[in-house]
Amino acid sequence: MKHTSIILFITLLILSCSSTKQLSSSLFSSEARSLILNADSLKPMRVYKITNKSDSLLLRTKSTFVKPNPKDVVLQRFVKRLYATVRDSMSLGVGIAAPQVGILKNIIWVQRLDKEDLPFEVYLNPKILKYSKNTQTVREGCLSIPNRSDTLSSRSQEILIEYDTMEGNHKSETIEGFTSVIFQHEIDHLNGILYLDHLQKELKANN
Ligand SMILES: [Zn+2]
Repeated sequence: MKHTSIILFITLLILSCSSTKQLSSSLFSSEARSLILNADSLKPMRVYKITNKSDSLLLRTKSTFVKPNPKDVVLQRFVKRLYATVRDSMSLGVGIAAPQVGILKNIIWVQRLDKEDLPFEVYLNPKILKYSKNTQTVREGCLSIPNRSDTLSSRSQEILIEYDTMEGNHKSETIEGFTSVIFQHEIDHLNGILYLDHLQKELKANN
């Protein structure tokens, strides 16, 4: 009896400690929140790789909707750290999706190679509404798939997308050329799809 009350007391103590320490956010689970907040906004996060079994399982999981909220400090920190990760010299890329750092939320960064000064831009809840029938042949690599790149010829030349901005505006846009491949690649990640899946389909279709 005495024993249980001590355990109960300790549990309550732990609960009250952690609730005062947490930065408030309704958007992320407590595991995701502690992963995001374990370093400052300039620190890259660990990139999940298909060569690791548990990483691979997460990369195959669908991400969920994220409600845009510029006041959410955890969301702000996460978006900055995801950017730091794609810009990190160890994992330099032209795009990244949240599941690649273990966060199953619909958030991507894309380098706009179709705009002047090639800016990186963040998109929340991006979705492809239309794929053009005509395709393009491009070489793709992925931060989560080490030591290889492959040529795909099934990516659409042009796509129509919709997304939310960090400020909560809903927009749609037509994207063409290689930048549209970056969008197709990153949005695939949000659905647990990797470019290797498209490669496999192409190989099957050609046999
Ligand atoms: Zn990728």
